[in-house]
Amino acid sequence: MGRTTLPLSERIADAAALLVGKRTVRCPHPGCRVSVRYRAITPEEAQRLTGLATDHTRH
Ligand SMILES: [Zn+2]
Repeated sequence: MGRTTLPLSERIADAAALLVGKRTVRCPHPGCRVSVRYRAITPEEAQRLTGLATDHTRH
């Protein structure tokens, strides 16, 4: 169960998520109201949802 070293930004996001217990990621596209809210999920799942929310070509 070794944990590989994550990029600093990822570790910060991870720590922040743990602190507040939840996160909301919004699509950066103007006029797009897509947002993903999550809490208590694995880093892999968080990364996947973040990708979905911020990549406008995927929704
Ligand atoms: Zn969007």
